[in-house]
Amino acid sequence: MTESLKNLFDYDPDRLIAYFESLNEKPFRARQLQRWIHQIGVVDFGSMTDLAKPLREKLSTRAEFRVPRVITDHTSIDGTRKWLLDVGQGNAIETVYIPEETRGTLCISSQAGCAVNCRFCSTGKQGFSRNLTMGEIIGQLWMAEFSLRKSLGSHARQPRVVTNVVMMGMGEPLLNFEPVVGSMHLMLDDNAYGLSRRRVTLSTSGVVPMMDRLGSELPVALAVSLHAPNDLLRDCLVPLNKKYPLRELMGACTRYVEVAPRGFITFEYCMLDGINDSEAHARQLVALTRDVPSKFNLIPFNPFPGSGLLCSQDSQIRRFSQILLEAGLVTTIRKTRGDDIDAACGQLAGEVQDRTRLVQRGKFGQIPLDV
Ligand code: SAH
Ligand code: SF4
Repeated sequence: MTESLKNLFDYDPDRLIAYFESLNEKPFRARQLQRWIHQIGVVDFGSMTDLAKPLREKLSTRAEFRVPRVITDHTSIDGTRKWLLDVGQGNAIETVYIPEETRGTLCISSQAGCAVNCRFCSTGKQGFSRNLTMGEIIGQLWMAEFSLRKSLGSHARQPRVVTNVVMMGMGEPLLNFEPVVGSMHLMLDDNAYGLSRRRVTLSTSGVVPMMDRLGSELPVALAVSLHAPNDLLRDCLVPLNKKYPLRELMGACTRYVEVAPRGFITFEYCMLDGINDSEAHARQLVALTRDVPSKFNLIPFNPFPGSGLLCSQDSQIRRFSQILLEAGLVTTIRKTRGDDIDAACGQLAGEVQDRTRLVQRGKFGQIPLDV
């Protein structure tokens, strides 16, 4: 019966070894299998020629390979590629590949929807359905890597197409901790994707206790979505701030810096016209982050239907950036990629069966000005 078959995409390296041990198989067999799946893209036991036939037969009666089905696959004029993936029961998630000259970055989703409900985010506006499983998270990388290799006409054993991963798609990754961390273990494993910790970035809206846990379990590069320099404004833009206010968040950032791959945190700041983009806001931001080694990434707001918000003027973004730069903060303005296919930051909407009924409950609120 299909239901009882184990999905081998749900296993991180340690769990796969434990599973193989339960089948009386040696750990190196698990590593061999992992290389077939994640390095060569083979998910057919029959083709795994260096595994003994009895083992292949044993596995084929107990296990299978399941990743989300591709519903649509679009490529933008700038080369950005977006897949819409079916995760069942009316939910669909999005994965985005952003090619650049020296790297290829994959933006991965961690939840169907998001319960944090940031005011400027189209995923948040849709509400929350459920956490993704590990197979659905690592399955996005597997699907993208091997589809890209195929469309580029490259060989199975060639260097990776996806060189960097950002956990910046739909969802709050730290609210789905174990499947996200299990997937990242595979991303870093030399018998799977072999990415370095500095090439895997997790972006969080600031789940303080989980930031500490990530720091002790798997300190990958960390991006923190700040968006406001004071609690009053951040409470409105990122409602999670009411639970973990800025003082606690800055404390968690300071602790994380100790273990961060290159010794700094990236702060993301979405530029919203007339809301968080004044020179006074920039100066408050400098003061707020003074003690945290950090880089700033200013993200021009990407509009979506019904947001009621506008992106800051270019000149205002430049002025804001100048204040940070003059205070000695490394600051970049993020280039918008893939907006012709709605693949830019915050435009990922997928299809979510909202269980939280945020929108109906009128929780998609107003932002006070002048804070
Ligand atoms: N939930 C995580 C990761 C996903 S969002 C987080 O919030 O960090 C990835 C980034 O896109 C975050 O910095 C988020 O604030 C930003 N973002 C969300 N909506 C946006 C929009 N409409 N325009 C620009 N950036 C947006
Ligand atoms: Fe969730 Fe991140 Fe969107 Fe906020 S910005 S609603 S945390 S996905």
